[in-house]
Amino acid sequence: MLDRTRLRIAMQKSGRLSDESRELFARCGIKINLQEQRLIAFAENMPIDILRVRDDDIPGLVMDGVVDLGIIGENVLEEELLSRRAQGEDPRYITLRRLDFGGCRLSIAMPLDAEYQGPQSLQNSRIATSYPHLLKRYLDEQKVRFKSCLLNGSVEVAPRAGLSDAICDLVSTGATLEANGLREVDVIYRSKATLIQRDGEMSDEKQQLINKMLTRMQGVIQARE
Ligand code: ATP
Ligand code: ZN
Repeated sequence: MLDRTRLRIAMQKSGRLSDESRELFARCGIKINLQEQRLIAFAENMPIDILRVRDDDIPGLVMDGVVDLGIIGENVLEEELLSRRAQGEDPRYITLRRLDFGGCRLSIAMPLDAEYQGPQSLQNSRIATSYPHLLKRYLDEQKVRFKSCLLNGSVEVAPRAGLSDAICDLVSTGATLEANGLREVDVIYRSKATLIQRDGEMSDEKQQLINKMLTRMQGVIQARE
C-alpha cells in the first residue's frame, strides 16, 4: 500500500510531456530514478512518489483525489472537465501553474480542395476528433450543427478514408496535416502543459512541500524565459 503521507504526483509515462516533466522535477531538486518500467517511482531525497501513467488518466486521477498533483496538457484536462460535466458531475481541481512546455493548438483542418469561409462552412458536416466536447463547445458558440466521428488515433486519415469531411486535431508544426492533404482552417484551443492539484484538504507537511516545489519551479521557469 502506498504511503498517503508522501506527496503523490502523476506524470505521463512516455510521450510528448514526459521528458520535460522529468526535467522539471530534476531542476526542482527532486531526485527520482525513472529508469525502470515501473508504475511508481520514489524520490530519494523528498517524501514524493511519482505515478507514471497515460496522460488521459491524469485529470481523472486528480479530480478523483487519487493523486495530489498532476502535470497534464490543458487540452486533455479541459476535455475531461467538459466530459464529466456532461455526465452531471461537478469535477474540481486547482490550477497551480501553467508550464512552459507542451505547447500545441487544437485546430480544425479540411482537405486542400474543400472550401472554407469560416465556421459556417462546417454546417451539418461530419468532423473526426478525439476532443468531441471541446469541438462542440466551440461550434455551439458559432451556432454550427455538426456530427462528430470519435477517433482516438489516426484522426488525420479520416477525410481520405471517407469517414469525415473535416478533422479537429492537435497541431504543432502542421507537417502531419500537410502529409495528409489537409490544411488548418481554424484554431479552436491553445494549450500548454499545466500543474494541477486535487481539491480538498491537504496536510500542512504536504502543502509546505507543494509551496516549496512551486517556488523552485518559478525560479526554473523564469531562468528559461
Ligand atoms: P499517452 O500514451 O500517454 O496516452 P498520447 O499519445 O495521448 O500519450 P502525446 O502525443 O504524448 O499523447 O501528447 C501528450 C500531450 O502533449 C498532448 O495532449 C498535448 O497537450 C501535448 N502536445 C504538444 N505538442 C503536440 C503535438 N504536436 N501533437 C500532439 N500533442 C502535443
Ligand atoms: Zn493520451
